[in-house]
Amino acid sequence: MNKVILLNKRPVGKPTADDFKFIEEELPVAMNGQVLLKTLYVSVDPYLRGRMSSAKSYIPPFNLNEPIQSGIVAEVIESKNPDFKVGDHVSGILSWKELQVSDGNGLMKVNSSAIPLSAYLGILGLTGLTAYLGLMEIGKPKAGETLVVSGAAGAVGSVVGQIGKILGCRVIGLAGSDEKTKMLTSKFGFDVAINYKTTTDMQSAIATAAPNGVDIYFDNVGGEISDAVLANVNQLARVPVCGAISVYNETEVPMGPRIQTTLVKSSILMQGFVVSNYAAKFPEAIKQLSIWLQEGKLTYTETIVHGFDQIPQAFIDLFEGKNEGKMVVKI
Ligand code: NAP
Repeated sequence: MNKVILLNKRPVGKPTADDFKFIEEELPVAMNGQVLLKTLYVSVDPYLRGRMSSAKSYIPPFNLNEPIQSGIVAEVIESKNPDFKVGDHVSGILSWKELQVSDGNGLMKVNSSAIPLSAYLGILGLTGLTAYLGLMEIGKPKAGETLVVSGAAGAVGSVVGQIGKILGCRVIGLAGSDEKTKMLTSKFGFDVAINYKTTTDMQSAIATAAPNGVDIYFDNVGGEISDAVLANVNQLARVPVCGAISVYNETEVPMGPRIQTTLVKSSILMQGFVVSNYAAKFPEAIKQLSIWLQEGKLTYTETIVHGFDQIPQAFIDLFEGKNEGKMVVKI
């Protein structure tokens, strides 16, 4: 039998184990034109929380009692499609199933000889692309500028900060534990890292860390952390708004300061984005990220959780900050 994870209920507030349902189905069979895939690595991502709710967004919600989907790296174990052979590794948006069939649409072949397969869900996958394209296309960093990154010890944030350093910025990271802030300065080369959970006055902590003010704020979290950063931005600052994980589980979105006057007074560009806006630039972004990886200028970390049954809990743990770098489940 084949294990599958379905959306059982739409979460109210923080997702819980009850929101997911494990079932077993007959083993899938590949028909002509299809491949049979064995799941190897599953990406769990904060944006899946949005797809679990019924609210209209840039991507359709998951249906109740249907499999959840996310980025997956899989192995072709049977092929009736001439474009794939047994033993190929592929990545794509696939279902939370141990085995599944695909007609090959949307699958990308990946190669484990240069980098571990899990990296195609992180640094060389959507989170690496999000970091690179959000920063380059909206943040437009210049040497000597100050870049602040929230969610800095996570999959996107840790890459954003390192790219900022490669391009000559002063980089300040905000994260939720002392282990994480230490990792940001020692492993990823951030100039300063601030633990937002133990700092009582974030606005002054950022002012101290950024004596010349903030030129770019790469926002992964929203909420009060972002209010504190925005109080420190310079004229013509750029604010790529990548995510707002601090409010994803709120049943009523909390009210913050009204920021229009800040935006006007300092001529700030604040722009939300989804990485797919820049799909045409994915090849050039992957090329640049790969070069930096090979040159040793860029590195990454992963939190690898083991076992198909652990996928929902790994997802829930993102909201507790239990990951460093990319959270991936190895099957
Ligand atoms: P991640 O940062 O690896 O994991 C989530 C992290 O968020 C946790 O480790 C935790 O770190 C932090 N967090 C959780 N609850 C928080 C809260 N209430 N306040 C502040 N921080 C909190 O996840 P990721 O995949 O790299 O995603 C980061 C952000 O980018 C998310 O908002 C996500 O939705 C967004 N994103 C956007 C796009 C796009 O196309 N726009 C693509 C990918 C991701 P701490 O321990 O530091 O709290």
